[in-house]
Amino acid sequence: MKMVYNWINIIQDYLLPPTCILCGNPGHNSRDICHSCYTHLPRNNLCCYRCAEILETPTTAPVLSCRAIPARHPSGASRAKPLPAVLCGRCLSRHPAFDETYAPFIHQGAIRHLISTLKFGANYKNARLLGMLLAEHLTNLSGTDLHLPEGCRAGKPDMKQTAERPDLILPVPLHKARYRERGFNQAIEIARTVAKEMQIPLDLTSCRRHRDTPHQTQLPAKKRHKNLKNAFSIIKPIHARHIAILDDVMTTGSTAHELACVLKKAGANRVDVWVCARA
Ligand SMILES: [Zn+2]
Ligand SMILES: [Zn+2]
Repeated sequence: MKMVYNWINIIQDYLLPPTCILCGNPGHNSRDICHSCYTHLPRNNLCCYRCAEILETPTTAPVLSCRAIPARHPSGASRAKPLPAVLCGRCLSRHPAFDETYAPFIHQGAIRHLISTLKFGANYKNARLLGMLLAEHLTNLSGTDLHLPEGCRAGKPDMKQTAERPDLILPVPLHKARYRERGFNQAIEIARTVAKEMQIPLDLTSCRRHRDTPHQTQLPAKKRHKNLKNAFSIIKPIHARHIAILDDVMTTGSTAHELACVLKKAGANRVDVWVCARA
């Protein structure tokens, strides 16, 4: 039955014209979201550059910052004065093992709906849309043609340049029990689109998750850390200097921190986190 359902999904996804998943209107820019729903997505405009902690009240306006500059923003928004890159209190006092986090949206409203109906309703086309939105955010990052203010990370190069481009994308692995229960890993499904759009290799085999963390979302941050100790291990050598960990949502950053620790021990010298949304 699942197989038949998957085929129906595939036919709907690739043969029918794009339709907004959120309201049913025709899609915009060959994506399954209309222009109106796109402009109302809850954007994470001002956040900690290391962990993407939300630093302002949610807004739907595409505010420009040093980190996310829509040089070719589809809405045609004009360029505003870039905002300085900032660190949250937690990252100032204790560095997580990862270097930077890119989270274009806040985990609420339409984005929360897209993620939860992907995870719990197996709506695969949501993964494609989320992947396209994430890739758009990442490829629009540019600092090369801007005069950045004092204190802002200078010259953040375009993602298309070699220096900032990761060698590979590693979707956060699911524990095999969870994978069996769900039938897929939402991080992999989103990562497939990002990898294709940005032409970066995907690594689905080098890392394994040993520990399942069943009620992780209900645990306080401290317990999450403890729960995740030794959760991941590298099962074959990774020949990459710069790795982007990819997941659907980041809540406390504990999972990304643990995985980044393991990847750095395995030889990576830079680990970024790419997530669709920050909670
Ligand atoms: Zn819509
Ligand atoms: Zn932070």
